[in-house]
Amino acid sequence: MKIGILGGTFNPVHLGHLILAQECQQKLKLDKVVFIPAKIPPHKTRRMIIDAQDRYQMLKLALRGNPDFEVSRIELDRQGTKSYSVDTLSLLKKKWGDEVNLFFITGADALAELHSWKDMDKIFKIARFIIATRPGYCLKNAPAKVKAVAIKAIDISATDIRRRIAGGKSIRYLVPDAVLKYIEKKKLYKKNNL
Ligand code: ATP
Ligand code: MG
Repeated sequence: MKIGILGGTFNPVHLGHLILAQECQQKLKLDKVVFIPAKIPPHKTRRMIIDAQDRYQMLKLALRGNPDFEVSRIELDRQGTKSYSVDTLSLLKKKWGDEVNLFFITGADALAELHSWKDMDKIFKIARFIIATRPGYCLKNAPAKVKAVAIKAIDISATDIRRRIAGGKSIRYLVPDAVLKYIEKKKLYKKNNL
């Protein structure tokens, strides 16, 4: 069994994430992809991050109808304030055992930040580390232990989506319709602080 793990803030989830997961599932022949929203991401504490429950609900809405995609609450329900990928991957490996091969999926922006990740060597031992195409970021010069995967990707970021909402611009067609409706109904991201 091959399982892809896609961690992120998902603040909010957008079509860029879904295309990333779909492309990696197909190219790497993954049985499923598990999306794991972070509780308090170590690198992002200065940005405007909305409540974890809202980010989780939006993921549920976005993945509805695709039996190969799942959301996990593992980081949301864990004790403590920070969620490190190495801890999540260790827990999943323990839970699922050796029959499961883990593929840790990231976009190319992760390449520049690799040095700041906790226990990178341990992550490389637990999972195959995948770095996929992301517009605006270079896929070249990935370290040997990382597998670069060229995918059809689109130039959407959650930062841009938050800016658009705060600036009164439409985000239609950048997020799934159900996510758009959720954001509108709950009036999320209206404040202009990213
Ligand atoms: P933010 O702008 O808030 O950082 P984001 O759009 O980068 O949001 P994250 O939740 O930070 O979304 O990303 C989760 C994972 O998805 C990361 O590995 C990131 O590289 C990847 N990713 C996000 N958007 C894309 C995209 N458009 N194409 C490819 N990969 C993406
Ligand atoms: Mg990001």
